[in-house]
Amino acid sequence: MNAQTRCQSCGMPIEDGSYCQHCTDADGNLQSFDERFERMVQFYLAQKRSDTRAQAERDVLAYMATMPAWRDHPDLHAAQLARQE
Ligand SMILES: [Zn+2]
Repeated sequence: MNAQTRCQSCGMPIEDGSYCQHCTDADGNLQSFDERFERMVQFYLAQKRSDTRAQAERDVLAYMATMPAWRDHPDLHAAQLARQE
């Protein structure tokens, strides 16, 4: 094992490149924020990391805000603002 390379979108360890296969489309491009966000919310719920949809959305947003691919992304900031009420 050499130095860990991690997906810049989800943090999963990867062999090389910037993103894992879960975060890219068939052409190897990073998926949209909306698509990634929805998939991670579903993942959090399936894994019982979050109890409710609303909690999963907050947890995923907090996690994505730490990832290089998303932390400066305008869609992430918009999603956070929309949930601050
Ligand atoms: Zn990934």
